[in-house]
Amino acid sequence: MAGSFRAGSNVDDLAAALRSIAGTGHAWAVSSGRAALSLILRSMKLQADDPNRNEVIIPAYTCYSVPASIERAGLVPRLCDVDAATLGMDPESLRASNFSRVLAVVSANLYGIPNALGDIEQVCREHGVFFVDDAAQALGARVAGRAVGSFGDAGIYSFDKGKVISTMQGGAIVSRSGSLAGVLEMAVAKLPASRLIERAVNPAKLAFYSIFLRPSMYPIARALPLTGLGQTTYDTRYPVARLSMFSQTVAQRLLARLDELSAIRRRNVAALTAAVEGAPGIELVRPVAANPISAAIRFPMFARNPAMRARLIGTFQRSGIGATSSYPQALVDVPAVRARLNQDTSRFLGARKVAATIITLPTHAYCPENLPERVQQMIRECTG
Ligand SMILES: *Cc1c(COP(=O)(O)O)cnc(C)c1O
Repeated sequence: MAGSFRAGSNVDDLAAALRSIAGTGHAWAVSSGRAALSLILRSMKLQADDPNRNEVIIPAYTCYSVPASIERAGLVPRLCDVDAATLGMDPESLRASNFSRVLAVVSANLYGIPNALGDIEQVCREHGVFFVDDAAQALGARVAGRAVGSFGDAGIYSFDKGKVISTMQGGAIVSRSGSLAGVLEMAVAKLPASRLIERAVNPAKLAFYSIFLRPSMYPIARALPLTGLGQTTYDTRYPVARLSMFSQTVAQRLLARLDELSAIRRRNVAALTAAVEGAPGIELVRPVAANPISAAIRFPMFARNPAMRARLIGTFQRSGIGATSSYPQALVDVPAVRARLNQDTSRFLGARKVAATIITLPTHAYCPENLPERVQQMIRECTG
């Protein structure tokens, strides 16, 4: 942070770092991941030949900012069920989707775990629709020799709280597609500057956040009215702007440490996996892709039922472990999303099961050494 006040930052250097991580020809930093997503979807709409295509297929369990950004872009969500074992889109549900009005499909890569991106890319190609690879949680993740975010026509990254790197707010667009990149380039060139209030307040917020990131501080942070940590809201009125100079510089400095920070997270996930594997009443996520490199931003697991989940999360949180139940509902049960759907909402068993039973644990560098043993012990006490 101190460095960001001294050094002049260069938006071209940040874009170059992002292009190098994603392996794409084009990258632009913007005010948030949601701003990136709404800009991409608007650009795709401009490029589409068929004016009737106004739907975007998304997994029925993902960040609420995704359907909010679809609304912001003037488009309509269409939900695809989620495979509760892999957290990816259920392949059957995707193939059975009505594509007649679909403009694009959006992945999720939740908790940094790559989805079956090659398969989704193939389905999109068959149907002649765009594919947005949502890597908001998966900066630095890789699968099949490619960076997550680089699949399909365009991808997004986020630098928000709780993501791989955080500048408080921020995001990026990457794209391999030459023709779409031209439309995106024009859209980004027209963006207003970041809001003065954010430029003034974000440095202080970031300092606060970096102190309260320590898991032992979570209970204190959560009790304070200032933070949005752990909140999930459906908001369509966010700014769509350029990334502030402060955030650019912090992003650039954190990106330079990405491999080091991600290696710690992956090590923590491996230790948690070893500690929890085989515990009665707990299930782990089975990644779909072969040999994926996860960004490992959280450690997800599933409790046997909602009551067990509540007991476990209560136990974890009381001892200072920042466990969460992630997004509170499947998107099909979020009123603001449901009201806009043109499809049968009766099933979505996978997404609803995930919403009811998922637990996520922190993986970042501040996690105490003995976190895996403590988690193992607490699971024994709760499920035994
Ligand atoms: C956080 C997130 C976004 C939005 O990113 P912001 O920078 O918070 O706007 C989009 N998709 C997913 C999956 C996310 O987790």
